[in-house]
Amino acid sequence: MKYLLFFLLIIVGCKQNTLINTQVSVETAAKEIKGTLVNSTKQLEKPYVILISLDGFRYDYAERYGAANLLNFDVKAEKMIPTFPSKTFPNHYAIASGLYPGHNGLVSNEFYDRNLDLTYSISNREIVENPNFYNGTPLWVLASQQKMVSASMFWVGSEAPIKNKYPTYYYKYDGSISHADRVNQAITWLQLPEESRPHFITVYFSITDDLGHKFGPNSNEISEGVNEIDRTIGQLISKVNQLNLPVNIIVVSDHGMMEVNRKDVIYLEELLPHNVKFTTSFPAMVYASNKNQLDSIYQKLITDTTRYKVYLKNNLPAWYHYDAAQDRIGDLIIMPKAPFTFGRRSEPYAKGTSTHGYDPKFTPEMGAIFYAKGPAFKKVDNLPPFENIHVYPLVAEILGLTYKQDSIDGKIKVLSPILK
Ligand code: AMP
Ligand code: ZN
Ligand code: ZN
Repeated sequence: MKYLLFFLLIIVGCKQNTLINTQVSVETAAKEIKGTLVNSTKQLEKPYVILISLDGFRYDYAERYGAANLLNFDVKAEKMIPTFPSKTFPNHYAIASGLYPGHNGLVSNEFYDRNLDLTYSISNREIVENPNFYNGTPLWVLASQQKMVSASMFWVGSEAPIKNKYPTYYYKYDGSISHADRVNQAITWLQLPEESRPHFITVYFSITDDLGHKFGPNSNEISEGVNEIDRTIGQLISKVNQLNLPVNIIVVSDHGMMEVNRKDVIYLEELLPHNVKFTTSFPAMVYASNKNQLDSIYQKLITDTTRYKVYLKNNLPAWYHYDAAQDRIGDLIIMPKAPFTFGRRSEPYAKGTSTHGYDPKFTPEMGAIFYAKGPAFKKVDNLPPFENIHVYPLVAEILGLTYKQDSIDGKIKVLSPILK
């Protein structure tokens, strides 16, 4: 009987649309899904939260390009500040876990873990699905621990069994799934019988990051992309309105975007010995094999104060929050000064005209977005800037999920003023 119910839920939850190619197969899901399958009686009474990420949507895009639906939200922040480094994976997981990247495990898009003897890379499926890389309790795991059903139409971390739990319903990342299909899946989940209906849903779109890298934050292409995704948000809102459920919609991004120049690429292998391990994402990390080698690399690198800044791992700026990440950060951390970037001769700089990853403290172009609407929210037009780790306690508060304050970096007092 238990198995019958389980298969029914999977079929209703994941099969009623055209996404069959990417969904976790029923057989795999049966083995893997350990998220809670039914809401407890207490959770049935709770409202709903859809957390949407528009990758690389810079803080000024909505006003600048006239994103009418976003500008119509109840809560509009001046900007949301990404946590260091302003890269996709560290920031999505900071939002989901309430922890700085230096604490949440994803210190960058690319890094080497000495204990695991593995290099994290966002394009390596097996690595991205390895739960050992993810610290903390992401919101879908918190929900599951408290017998609340959750669902993910993509989010960093959702494809790994963190604390042995996936979201109740989830998909492996596939950027080719259309925007309409992503929206329809979220709506289909909200039409499930209330026992199996998710109260927390994530949805992710990459269009603004893709177009931003390729054409830049000042291009016609990004203007069109912003308007296209804004129409998608508009469609989601009108479908949600027909459901007659207490649904709150929060739209965030992970970082902004700025123009760089191919001439400004620094090829790190030209500055480093042949046998040293290094990464080129921001910050670049150098993993030296011994102290002598480390000293000589450091002495050489600090002579250039124009293009980048180099730090020893025990002497990092406090706002990097890398104190607890000693196993994952390099012996040397190198941050380019915008608009300089890092690359390898063997992998020519492929990311087009623009990028992100710079220190948010000194680079306002890295600013991200926060918009919210729904029954939980007051009307707040110019919410002052705040860091993205504070989204976690906000969502937990709306859903009535409990957590230990000392287990996260985010603080509820930062965003509680926007709640009714
Ligand atoms: P970046 O601009 O290098 O920081 O990374 C952005 C890219 O991450 C996007 O173009 C997406 O294709 C990719 N991405 C986002 N979420 C996932 C995921 N869950 N799994 C794999 N790749 C992802
Ligand atoms: Zn991103
Ligand atoms: Zn990007």
